[in-house]
Amino acid sequence: MATNFTRTVMMVSALALMATGVAAQDRAPSDGRESTAFTLETDQPRTPEQEAVRFDKADLSISVLPDEQAIRGVAVLDFTATAPVERLVVELDTLFEVSDVQVDGQTIAPTNWSNPEGRMTIDLPRPLTAGERTSLRIAYGGQPRTAPRAPWNGGFVWSTAPSGEPWVATAMQLNGCDLVYPCIDNSNAEAGRIDLHVTVPSNLSVPGNGVFQGKTDNGDGTTTWNWSIQNPNIYAVNINVGPFEEVTGEYRSRFGNVIPMHYWHLKSDKPEDVQRLFAEFPQMLDFFEAYVGPYPFGGEKMGVVETPHLGMEHQTLNAYGNGYAVDERGYDWLLQHEFAHEWFANQLTNRNADDMWLHEGLGSYMQPLYAGWLRGGRYLHRELANQRDGLTNRAPVVSRTPKTVNGVYNAADGPGGDIYSKGSLIAHTLRMTMGDEDFFEALRILVYGRPDPAPGNFTPQIRSTPEYNQIVNQVTGENYDWFFDAYLYEASLPVLNQTRDGDRLTLEWSTPAGVFPMPLEVEVNGRVRVVEMRDGRGFVDTPAGAIVIVDPENKVLRQLDAVDRLHAWRRAQREQEAAADANHDH
Ligand SMILES: [Zn+2]
Repeated sequence: MATNFTRTVMMVSALALMATGVAAQDRAPSDGRESTAFTLETDQPRTPEQEAVRFDKADLSISVLPDEQAIRGVAVLDFTATAPVERLVVELDTLFEVSDVQVDGQTIAPTNWSNPEGRMTIDLPRPLTAGERTSLRIAYGGQPRTAPRAPWNGGFVWSTAPSGEPWVATAMQLNGCDLVYPCIDNSNAEAGRIDLHVTVPSNLSVPGNGVFQGKTDNGDGTTTWNWSIQNPNIYAVNINVGPFEEVTGEYRSRFGNVIPMHYWHLKSDKPEDVQRLFAEFPQMLDFFEAYVGPYPFGGEKMGVVETPHLGMEHQTLNAYGNGYAVDERGYDWLLQHEFAHEWFANQLTNRNADDMWLHEGLGSYMQPLYAGWLRGGRYLHRELANQRDGLTNRAPVVSRTPKTVNGVYNAADGPGGDIYSKGSLIAHTLRMTMGDEDFFEALRILVYGRPDPAPGNFTPQIRSTPEYNQIVNQVTGENYDWFFDAYLYEASLPVLNQTRDGDRLTLEWSTPAGVFPMPLEVEVNGRVRVVEMRDGRGFVDTPAGAIVIVDPENKVLRQLDAVDRLHAWRRAQREQEAAADANHDH
């Protein structure tokens, strides 16, 4: 997801304040109807009934009624029991009216299903044994939740294009697929396939996830657009409707396959903006395929759709709402960030939201790497330095207890924006410590489940932080637990204590995680040497008057007094401004 935190990293405090101001306006939809607290969380534990089924396929037929800001849907969900089960449990927002429930063609009486809080329980006509299949059909409709602040507080976005037509999108990463259709809203419960049939007024287009299956003019002023996607991540399948025009192209991959590229943009956009952005598609594909590996969904497409909200990594149809902004990076950061998630979120999916830095941190590390690939080391380091200045270190990046997505982003004890920038800097430090060959091999195993990915030889992976640690240990043949313990599972950064005594500089690491044997480069009078720091301590000879720079290339993420002072100063400035505003009001 594109984050308001990301903005604060690159811009200065004025924007940070604006982001806070926007957050303060966050509120429930104005009509007073609200989804349950249960529905608004995503990645909660599954029930035993949900763990007893495999979610094979969803077939979703959804009519979008922009004038009424409503939808009508029929969802057919296919499951295979993996253990004996007597009930099906799916999730669907209680804002919808459910008009009919069927199991294997048989209507289920309203007394045999219920949906009190958005967790819908359906008694099966007969129990299933392991291996048996069943098909659940739910007809539902009504006015869905309107997103108070997409994409950070989600639901439907009912907007109007500059040319006057309806422009509709959904974004639900923080709140879940159950805002739009019945599903199991847990990272471990991806459907094997989703077929999507969206009916809209015929003057509008419906770009979709996966592969286009054709459209049908219904002869009543509406058209149905059909799409099919394999293994979509739980918040990946979304509704996008608008007066779009489509740009297409083909990308010839370094892995030998040809990947279709599609961009659906508003017909009112300036052609030169559209062309400039579209020209970045093959550059980004080339970068990611060179650094990480094959584009995971090359058999489907690289797709992007313009949205009224900032962005979101919807699989094979990234949401783009950056308005063609040009900044000092020299590339469209939003497109690049969301596209990184095709690898880090959609191909590699976190086991639980607690591991979300695997999406956002590794994804954000692709930004400095891309800057370096495009423009050289100066621009790589500028992005890393900007990321460094934004860290809060208020909570560990990974808590080692299951969390909901809101618990990660918005709870006081969650890491918030640190899953982005701190995750990126941790990845950079890991790379500098392991070396490029091992780092990228471990990354490929993490993302693809194998070191030698090629189109067609891998499937989506669900991984946790401890599993990444194991992969790093296995690839290097060394124990990197100390690295993960200090950087991921502690809030504070490692502190480097330096004391100079005569001709000797003593360096000593201090972290709550225990011994931290992180080697350090030290430059003395222009000559760089590596201090091993076994047991977390080391020495360097530093003649009187020598020019000494510790970690001259900033390879190692650590506490820095200058950054702490900057944060304290900004905080004081904000407090002063707030006090001045309060006085002014009186
Ligand atoms: Zn993101």
